[in-house]
Formats: sequence, C-alpha cells, structure tokens
Amino acid sequence: MRVYNFAAGPSTLPLNVLKKAQEEFLDFSGTGMSVTEISHRDKAYDAIVKDAEKLVRELLNVPDDYCVIFVQGGASTQFAAVPLNLMHSGKADYIVTGNFAKKAWQEGQIYGDAVKIGDSSDKVYTYIPDVDKLNYSENADYVHITSNNTIFGSRYSKFPECKAPIVADMSSEIFSREIDVGKFGVIYAGAQKNLAPAGVTIVIAKRSLIQNPLKICPTMLKWKVQDENGSLYNTPPAFSIYMADLVLNDLKQKGGVKAMQEVNEYKAKLLYDFIDNSSFYTNSVLPEYRSIMNVPFVTGSAELDAKFIAEAKKAGLVSLKGHRLVGGMRASIYNAIPVEGVKALIKFMKKFETENK
Ligand SMILES: *Cc1c(COP(=O)(O)O)cnc(C)c1O
Repeated sequence: MRVYNFAAGPSTLPLNVLKKAQEEFLDFSGTGMSVTEISHRDKAYDAIVKDAEKLVRELLNVPDDYCVIFVQGGASTQFAAVPLNLMHSGKADYIVTGNFAKKAWQEGQIYGDAVKIGDSSDKVYTYIPDVDKLNYSENADYVHITSNNTIFGSRYSKFPECKAPIVADMSSEIFSREIDVGKFGVIYAGAQKNLAPAGVTIVIAKRSLIQNPLKICPTMLKWKVQDENGSLYNTPPAFSIYMADLVLNDLKQKGGVKAMQEVNEYKAKLLYDFIDNSSFYTNSVLPEYRSIMNVPFVTGSAELDAKFIAEAKKAGLVSLKGHRLVGGMRASIYNAIPVEGVKALIKFMKKFETENK
C-alpha cells in the first residue's frame, strides 16, 4: 500500500510518473532496453536530455541567454561550483538563513572572501533578514541566498535588489512557485526534493556570467563546459534525468508552475491555519516567511512528538520526524503531495490532539 510520504528529500514523486517509469522500465521507447541500460550517446537518450531542458525552459520561462544544465554531486557540490565559476574579484556576499545557507557560506570561504551580510540564527532561522536593509559589499561577484530553508521552514517572500548577480539555491522549492529567472544570475537545485530521484542537480545560469571560471575550477564543475556539451560532457546521471523529464511532463500536463503554486498555497494554508488555531501545535516561523514546502511544528513535549511520529506512521503518514537540528515534526508538502495527503495529516493531528491534550 502506498503511504503519504512527507520526507524532506529524497521525497515522494507523482504516482502516475512512477507507474509510467515502471511500465516502460524493461523496454524504453521500443529500444528493447531499459533506460538504465542504453548509452548516453544513443539518440533515444539524447532526446530525453533535450526534452528535459526544453521543459525546464518552458515551465520556468527561462530567458534565451541562460543555460539549463544537469550535473552531479548534489546541491552541496554547487556550494563549491558557485565560487569556482563566479568569484573573480575574490569576494562574494552570503545571506545565512539556515543550515544549507551556512554550509554554502562556509564552502565559499575556501575560495575567497565570503562575507556574511545577513544572518537569522539569532532567532533559530525563523525569519529572513530584511533584504532592503542589508549592507551589500561593493564589488561582490555575487550575492548567495537559499530561497527556501528546508530544515527550518522559512522562505524569501521578497528577493534582494542588488548590483551583484543573485545566486539562489532553490533545491527545496524549484517548480513550486513562479519565479522571474531573469532576476537571478544563477539558480541551482538538487532534484531530490521536488523534481526527481537523487543524483541530478539542475543549474540555470546566465551565460555571460559563466565564461571565465577560476583557473583552479575542476573541468567537471565548469558550468560553461557542461553547457557547451549539452549536459553530456561525461556520463550523466541518466536515470535521474529520465525521471526528471517524466516529472516535468507531468507538471506541464497539470497546468505548469502557476497551477502548482495555487495548489501548494492552498495546501500550506490548510496546514498553517490548522496549526495556528490549535493550542496544541506550534510553528514559530514568522507568517510572512513561512515556507509552502516544508512545515515544521512541535507539540512542546519531546515525548509527545515521538509518540506523534510513531502513531502517524501506523496511520500511513510517514517521514514526519523533524530534522535533527530542530527536533519535533516536519511535513514536507512538495508538489507531489496531494491535497488529500495534507487533509489526512490534519485529520490525524486533530485526533492525536484530542487523545493527548
Ligand atoms: C537538500 C538541500 C541541499 C543539499 O542537497 P544535496 O543534494 O544533498 O547536496 C542543499 N540546499 C538545500 C536548500 C537543500 O534543501
């Protein structure tokens, strides 16, 4: 039996996508081979990569002067790739609004002067610093942000307006809400949250910014090289890209990012309204900055939290344990979690509250 899986990543994928992958697993597109067995130089495979790129461009309205590439190493490898491709003057700004933002900033320090211009750790990352009041560095090569904080459940409601290009880690929210790609220099996202199984990371970058990677940049991390080779410089994470292509096709069929955003906002509202109207559960992120993808909440008692997680699991609502840094619960309600899944969670929360108050 399928359960509702609220995992933060790897996470649930649309059921019809999984079924399609299963259906064509042994014989992909009449090749008589599984997609995991064909050469990445095969025409049938090339078509997948091209289609995935086309769909990313279409669904996010990516301007023509941006590349869309599929790379390996997860978002964490991009923490290094960002300075290695962009840090020409040796200085960049970082806004530290969560654990991954902090890791990106720490990685940046290996390659140059990574200046922390904002930090919300004073209130356990429950807000985003006012981007209009930050002290942006003169001559920064870029400003790095993490648009949605997977662990702490906050997100930018407004993006910085600054001279330097914005580099955004959108791992846990890409394709969940409409964004204006042209306002960013680079967007990157590990796929395993909202797009595909683990193994592929998507990078969308303004081509004019990526022509001169640092001399020490490994070839594999040069976005320019990946772009010039259509994401096929070496063997790509073939299966993950194939799955991403299926998910993107599914998203298009469901009305694209705009339609998905409406559903996501509806799901998040149901859950936050329920939490806010309850005296049993709390979420401490300032409402303006609440993520519509990751919703952490607690009962106030570690013992009850553990009981909640165990009983929810028995009721078919799994992976609700919060990240080890925050404890409590976290419901990741990515694109593939249906409205019914959120309703089932709320119903369970009500019942648990009545029984344990
Ligand atoms: C999960 C996550 C990462 C880490 O991704 P990996 O693919 O495991 O390297 C980085 N940033 C954000 C925002 C994430 O949610």
